[in-house]
Amino acid sequence: MHKRFILTTVMFFLVILSQIAIASPGYGNYGIIAQAPGSPIIAIDPGHGGYDPGAVSGNVLEKDINLIICKKLKEHLENKGFLVVLTRNGDYNHAIKGLHGKEAKRYDLTERIKIINSSNAEILLTVHVNSNNKNAYEGAEAFYHPKSLNGKMLANYIQEELRTVPEIRKRLSKNSKCFMLCNTKIPAVLVEIGYLSNPREQKKLEDPQYLDLIAQKITAGVLKYYDLKTAWEHMVTFLPLNF
Ligand SMILES: [Zn+2]
Repeated sequence: MHKRFILTTVMFFLVILSQIAIASPGYGNYGIIAQAPGSPIIAIDPGHGGYDPGAVSGNVLEKDINLIICKKLKEHLENKGFLVVLTRNGDYNHAIKGLHGKEAKRYDLTERIKIINSSNAEILLTVHVNSNNKNAYEGAEAFYHPKSLNGKMLANYIQEELRTVPEIRKRLSKNSKCFMLCNTKIPAVLVEIGYLSNPREQKKLEDPQYLDLIAQKITAGVLKYYDLKTAWEHMVTFLPLNF
């Protein structure tokens, strides 16, 4: 009975706090907190680069789109007071000469993971563009590792925001056991920002303004995540010691 009471009370506070965090943009006054020394660090990983173009459609290359949107994302997050670490900031990848195919890909990803794991980043956003044999597929999707609750929460918030992009296919977040999500130690989300294989979406992905909008939506999702995290940390601070 006692346990049930505690559980009910905790659930009650969680529901209330999540509602406060969601309903009040800026809860936790994040802009002010972030100006203090020790601002949270976010790692951003623009997929592919160099000889690895990722998805290709004519002369449109995924690696270029990834870099453009990640630079915009960096700017938006920095404007909100976060510190940002990019795993690449130009047209290259981290594989060494002499490696080929899967071996090179694995080396590149391992180097990126080393950068992320040693960066003191609190969360990771790895950004890609999708492609499928069926060109009807479209829309942006956020993926999380199935064992990461924080990763799932972050992905859900990002997905929620992406669903508000005008005329976008409204998708749900999904879990994934991709190499990057399996090997990073922090809550991580893989954002596939759209399908290059869909002609209508390809046009959008070539538009810098559209990429900026997607970057803003991802930023809004990150802010919601931090708002709830801040609310939770406040609640834990005020809980009775023997609770
Ligand atoms: Zn990719």
